[in-house]
Amino acid sequence: MSTVYHDYSGFSNITTFGETYAAFGNIEGLNFIEKLWASYYTYIGNDIFATGLLFFTVHEALYFGRCIPWAIIDRIPYFNKYKIQDTKIPSNQEQWECLKSVLTSHFLVEAFPIWFFHPLCQKIGISYQVPFPTVATMALQVAVFFVLEDAWHYWFHRALHYGVFYKYIHKQHHRYAAPFGLTAEYAHPVEVMLLGFGTVGIPIVWCLITGDLHLFTVCIWIALRLFQAVDAHSGYEFPWSLHHFLPIWAGADHHDEHHHHFIGSYASSFRWWDFLLDTEAGPKGKSSREAKMKVKAESKKSI
Ligand SMILES: [Zn+2]
Ligand SMILES: [Zn+2]
Repeated sequence: MSTVYHDYSGFSNITTFGETYAAFGNIEGLNFIEKLWASYYTYIGNDIFATGLLFFTVHEALYFGRCIPWAIIDRIPYFNKYKIQDTKIPSNQEQWECLKSVLTSHFLVEAFPIWFFHPLCQKIGISYQVPFPTVATMALQVAVFFVLEDAWHYWFHRALHYGVFYKYIHKQHHRYAAPFGLTAEYAHPVEVMLLGFGTVGIPIVWCLITGDLHLFTVCIWIALRLFQAVDAHSGYEFPWSLHHFLPIWAGADHHDEHHHHFIGSYASSFRWWDFLLDTEAGPKGKSSREAKMKVKAESKKSI
């Protein structure tokens, strides 16, 4: 029996998912999503299996679900004018090769550890019971995870560009100089685990420190982070892209430059690390670095 809810005394003779949902429907104070969540865990009846299946399915559905519109856009000539590297539309063959590799990685690298996630949650106190925390609590935690993951990604991604790390690990991700949605998770297994820690490990550390985290918040966070990663690799820059309204947001404009120039623009979600540490890629970053070097050289000369 699931422990997603504390009191099953009012439940009797439930065998189908519909009956389970109807039983939760009688409980006051639970919203639609909480009822669905609780019904899912109760109906499955095995919390370890339920969490593993949920996370694997959510990951596959959202990742590929988000990639499909980009693959369709690649086939519609109208959108070519928004392609950042407009001469490099990925061929069907390239997309197919990438899809096979990403699927293999999902099943070999991620499908196994995902089943240990629920026991880990129980051990460190990530709650999965209903009701959920307030929307404000969840939003604040997701915002913190975005900021921390971005810092983690900046430093470890930058480190992956050094010598042997690049040669043996990160080079795989740079196979496509003009990225497309599916390439977001096209990477060496070591990189998947190292950069994946920023996504999965940071909430775990957060919970170890604060003792306050819900599994649903982790789901929302992973979903948004997946969308961010796929969109950053889309290769498209629109007049309505988020960074035009939120200038600190990185987006495809920022990450495409990284793939194009192989150096600079290492952060994932925001622009501040690359801006402050002078590692912005592309002509804009290059000219600002050159200007700084010139100033340095002239000040040396005058000494
Ligand atoms: Zn890189
Ligand atoms: Zn990339």
